[in-house]
Amino acid sequence: MQFYIMTLFPDMVMDGLNTSIIGRAMDKGLLDIEAVNIRDYAFNKHNSVDDYPYGGGAGMLMQAEPVYQCYEAVKKKIETKALLSDPGTRKSPRVIYLSPQGKTFNQTMAEEFAQEEDLVFLCGHYEGIDERVLNEVVTDYVSIGDYVLTGGELPAMIMIDAISRLVPGVLHNDVSAEFESFQDNLLEYPQYSRPEIWHDKQVPAILLSGHHANIEKWRREQSVIRTAKNRPDLIEKAKLTKEEQKLAEE
Ligand code: SAM
Repeated sequence: MQFYIMTLFPDMVMDGLNTSIIGRAMDKGLLDIEAVNIRDYAFNKHNSVDDYPYGGGAGMLMQAEPVYQCYEAVKKKIETKALLSDPGTRKSPRVIYLSPQGKTFNQTMAEEFAQEEDLVFLCGHYEGIDERVLNEVVTDYVSIGDYVLTGGELPAMIMIDAISRLVPGVLHNDVSAEFESFQDNLLEYPQYSRPEIWHDKQVPAILLSGHHANIEKWRREQSVIRTAKNRPDLIEKAKLTKEEQKLAEE
């Protein structure tokens, strides 16, 4: 899978992503991440890409033209790659604008984006980006939560991390076969590792029993209890048996 990140701070995203699991997946060729510097497409002698907003107001705005030229360059790269591998079959890439005004990112969206071959991220900075270029190039507006950050770089890194771990081969285990938080609208059950007793706290005996069916039952119950306590909004959407419903209400 290939990610392109249009940004004013390419080092920030590349340094952040090129480590641990994502870094190893890049080394193995499972992921390709390229940060493209919007400033390389500045069209004035000062290399600036921002200007005052019409109508007044605080802060500066990223101008339309450098963002558009950067997008055109990324689109050309993707088209050239497509021509070489599979002529005529590629549609335009999805372009995600990281914005506090977008749809809130979640696991279902990560799973959907993980189906794409190429994804383009557009990171805003200052007070954002001229609306006209957003209207021309953006296909998806995504927020990572109801708060305002200084730039779209961290949100892009968060999305790339969540999407990448769903790409086959990136994790050692097959994520689709494992239960994880948000699957079936439940949070994951508590987990324990060695030693059996730590700070006088004993690992729940059921996990040492070797009885797989009982362990699964216990884990499911713990997921229900935990989700009901921490995320009442999620538990409302979960499909529960009558017994589990009672657990959730306790
Ligand atoms: N003036 C904008 C507004 O009120 O909607 C906020 C601009 S913010 C200071 C600068 C950039 O950070 C945005 O263009 C966006 O790319 C990014 N950003 C800030 N908060 C974000 C969030 N919660 N999710 C995704 N991107 C965010």
